[in-house]
Amino acid sequence: MAVHAITGATLVDGSVVDVVVEDEHVVEVGAGAGSDAAERIDAAGGLVLPAYVDTHVHLDKVLIRDQLAVHDGTLKAAIDAIQAAKRGYDVEDVRRRARSVIESSVLTGTTRIRTHVDVDTIGGLVPLEGVLAAARDCAGIAEVEAIAFPQEGILRDPGCADLMVAAMEGGATVVGGMPHWETSEADQREHVRFCFELARRFDADVDMHVDETDDGSVRTLAMVVAETERTGWQGRVTAGHVCALSAADDAYADDVIAGCARSGITIVSNPVTNLVLQGRGDRGLVRRGTTRVRELLEAGVPVAFGQDCVHDGFYPFGRGDMLEVALVSAHAAHLVSPDELYLALAAVTTVPAAAWRLGDAYGVAVGARADLQLYGAATWPEVLRLQDPPLAVWHRGRMVARTTVTRELMR
Ligand SMILES: [Zn+2]
Repeated sequence: MAVHAITGATLVDGSVVDVVVEDEHVVEVGAGAGSDAAERIDAAGGLVLPAYVDTHVHLDKVLIRDQLAVHDGTLKAAIDAIQAAKRGYDVEDVRRRARSVIESSVLTGTTRIRTHVDVDTIGGLVPLEGVLAAARDCAGIAEVEAIAFPQEGILRDPGCADLMVAAMEGGATVVGGMPHWETSEADQREHVRFCFELARRFDADVDMHVDETDDGSVRTLAMVVAETERTGWQGRVTAGHVCALSAADDAYADDVIAGCARSGITIVSNPVTNLVLQGRGDRGLVRRGTTRVRELLEAGVPVAFGQDCVHDGFYPFGRGDMLEVALVSAHAAHLVSPDELYLALAAVTTVPAAAWRLGDAYGVAVGARADLQLYGAATWPEVLRLQDPPLAVWHRGRMVARTTVTRELMR
């Protein structure tokens, strides 16, 4: 049995401990616990965290930006520009690009990734096959789950419904959706109903793109809440983006936020992307497309942050670095007090882990799977401020990434 220990590491609560790992799991956490371990890594007081969970990224689209036609930067124009690229996808191309971002995610401390994957009549199941191949390539360093995502709509893309079923049979494990993309309210409602029916058929969780628009009158989040309650899917539903909520009136917002809290819906906000994607038509005070993060948190709704996009048609930046995502999202959501900084940490660790229903399998705690990361700084606020990458990352108890940075000041 492989027993090793990270010694002298600081936990989030400030205590300094040894973290002892046996095979894939943490078996002991405590002062001096690792003194007998065969292999010891001296943390020198650095912060040890559970590895990040990125629960909202699009690995099939990553790194295609340079092949796309120039467009006006809106969501619709980006989707249109990507359609042409999607027609030309082959499995190996998707596999290579997805693998590259999984690797950069692991290097920056993420070992669990949920990726939306386009399922539509343009690309068929090619994106899914490519992403699943990359997931297999990277199985030793990260766990990657695929969400069947109808990017082009379901009712407005005849044939997509059958492909969604095929995607769930073919290796996707979570049902995605994008109801606001349908062309009528009746179709939006049917889209939501279809996705929940599919989830029940495959006993799968639901993770939809919801109201990714500046238009505050778009209200598919209320449909998702209602369907969650009607189907008994409480605690198994995630809604991503939810930009329109920030533009909606307060009475609707209060009501639907209470519904999310009641039905255990997790909200994934993706400020890194939506800050540049939304509000493109505004002059003067420009809307930034970030949902009501503070109000959701105050109502007890779990809020996670996702990377969403990496150098694709929607977003020019990104590298799967959740520390960067946490920093940008803290800016966007006004999270600055000491307590609020820890909410930003939760949004890339424990909140998405709970959405995955990992329970005690997650964390720096006895019995958890040893997916860990170690920083040079001793506290989360310092880690977040300094933005240095983790010194080391572990997946299933094995060190899977290490970074050494040398800086020299020449006076
Ligand atoms: Zn997305």
